Amino acid sequence: MFVQYYFALGESDASAVHRVRETVRFFLGCREVDTVESEHGSTVVPGHPVDHRALGELMSEALRNLDRATEVPDRHLVTPMLGFDFACAWNYAVDPWCPRCRTPLEGWDGEAWMHGAEPFETCSACEFTGLIGDWDLTNAAFAKTNCGVALLDWPNLWECAVEVHRHALGLIGRRSRYLCGGV
Ligand SMILES: [Zn+2]
Repeated sequence: MFVQYYFALGESDASAVHRVRETVRFFLGCREVDTVESEHGSTVVPGHPVDHRALGELMSEALRNLDRATEVPDRHLVTPMLGFDFACAWNYAVDPWCPRCRTPLEGWDGEAWMHGAEPFETCSACEFTGLIGDWDLTNAAFAKTNCGVALLDWPNLWECAVEVHRHALGLIGRRSRYLCGGV
């Protein structure tokens, strides 16, 4: 299974509910279509009619489970993430990369972030220092969020539908991030 997360860092809980709902609504209106124009053979097109009952049920479930992380076996094709939640690349997880020189942050495990505020980390090679969310977390083993959407077994949007990818990042929050991996 291939999992992709669109999530934000530092959103208030109040704005997270609105942002997550709008992002889920956007994804529910997406359809995969075959195309000869893409090297991947298919793309994802937004703007189709949305099943509003499905949107309401997904959001209700997420609001009931605010204190429980969204585990992979629970995931729908589109899963809203509210309250305490996290993104993980699972089988393909690697260390976060320094955004300046690409050196991996070796041995990083996310434990401090899981139990507290977003930590600062310093690169051993170039001394770049920044919040961990400003490192490259594309295939990281842990990122904490209260405002995200997980997609299960969707096409890789970054590769086959970059406009959909960018639009979802714009909807989900101000410090928006993308993380993907395999289960
Ligand atoms: Zn560096």
